[in-house]
Amino acid sequence: SVRVRFAPSPTGFVHIGSLRTALYNYLFARKNNGKYILRVEDTDQSRYVEGAIEGMLRSMEWAGVNHDEGVILNGEHLGQRGEFGPYIQSQRLDIYKQYIKILLENGYAYYCFCSKERLDEVREKQKAEGLTAGYDGHCRNLSKEEVEEKIRAGHPHVIRLRLPENKDIKFTDIVRGEVVMNTVDLDDQVLMKSDGFPTYHFAVVVDDHLMGITHVIRGEEWLPSTPKHVYLYEAFGWEAPQYVHLPNILNADRKKLSKRQGDVAVEDFLNKGYLPEGLVNYIALVGWSPEDNQEIFSMKELEESFSLERVSKSGGVFDVNKLNWVNGHYIRESSVERITDLAIPHLIEVGYITEDEAKERYEWLKDLVSVLQDRISYVAEIKDKSDVFFKTEIELKDDESKELIKVEHLPQLLDVFQSKVEEAEAIDEDFGKKVFKEIQKETGIKGPNLFKPIRVVLTGEVHGPDLPLVMKVLGSENILKRIQYVKE
Ligand code: GLU
Repeated sequence: SVRVRFAPSPTGFVHIGSLRTALYNYLFARKNNGKYILRVEDTDQSRYVEGAIEGMLRSMEWAGVNHDEGVILNGEHLGQRGEFGPYIQSQRLDIYKQYIKILLENGYAYYCFCSKERLDEVREKQKAEGLTAGYDGHCRNLSKEEVEEKIRAGHPHVIRLRLPENKDIKFTDIVRGEVVMNTVDLDDQVLMKSDGFPTYHFAVVVDDHLMGITHVIRGEEWLPSTPKHVYLYEAFGWEAPQYVHLPNILNADRKKLSKRQGDVAVEDFLNKGYLPEGLVNYIALVGWSPEDNQEIFSMKELEESFSLERVSKSGGVFDVNKLNWVNGHYIRESSVERITDLAIPHLIEVGYITEDEAKERYEWLKDLVSVLQDRISYVAEIKDKSDVFFKTEIELKDDESKELIKVEHLPQLLDVFQSKVEEAEAIDEDFGKKVFKEIQKETGIKGPNLFKPIRVVLTGEVHGPDLPLVMKVLGSENILKRIQYVKE
């Protein structure tokens, strides 16, 4: 049965490309009644970032991409679940030692004592001669005695893969088809480092095999490494898994999407108030196309529709506008309470409300959110869109409003409007609906000549949300302040 894994290295934030890799693994497992495993690949201790595993697990949990086996969060602490553990590579060092022995004994691997200085020299020379840089095989043919002596003398060493010369290594990638690479283009890869840790290349093969992984679905940056992995399977006499290399996520210039161009971390999107179902729905579509033109997918629907056959070979462009459109859909579908709870920290952040006020005026905040909910694509946008409800000094946002604020009949209009507000028992939606009729009756002003200037006085804009609702949220005090502000 299908077993797939997501194998992040804890080196920092979670790139949305990693979220997509995890998601596709998850979807493929669900679709095939398989198991999805999360393994932590932390063999490069120099790149380890404190807290990165926990942060990554939280991001996955937030996104709803849940694994069946592997490293899990128990509250604040890391735990593990499953029968193939440990699922953290730094806890598997004994296993790698056991398996490297097999390769050494069978001649598939050899000790290398070359110093960094020597390797640098070789590389410089190769470059100067216009050759591709690579290990020159200096330690390939040391005798058993020489090796033993050097080890006894305490010389630092690594263990390298002994690749056959001029051999084609083939494998089939489900998305790309047959891939062939000749060993002349490959290096005698280091398998064990001098610190006793395996390299990624060695650990990934041992673990994928021992964990029963049937399909390796990962980013295309690993494609050039796969022949080495395939050869390692051969050396062990193991069956290699099926491979799928996912196309990169590109920016609008068709370059690889990177941190410099803005938001790429799952956390960035979370902090801006994107909803997990919006981000997951959108990211699923970058690199995979459903059979029809459906664009809105719940996780359940993705689980049913996903297939590796419809993953594209070429990179998918990350389009923020499309993301915003998809996310806006889920914002509108959400309950007012949910969006209000997400909006509160943003409103506190810009100083519109305090934490206490957020509690005291929760019902009012819900009204505010319901006015704006279908006008935002992600929750942080509420900061800009809600300014008219918190600031008396309205800003005129376009030319038409600048004209309207000067119309001749405005003072008369405002006088009547003001008295209606002062007389009203409550500014509810009903008031908003009636007041225009009453003003029209008294002044003879009607239609756009009536609505537009009043909207401009209240919001600084000609267009916007339903006016009766806007009035309700503003309340009489704020409405009167704005009338006063314009009169002066
Ligand atoms: N640890 C690798 C990474 O961080 C995993 C690559 C793979 O899936 O084989 O991307």
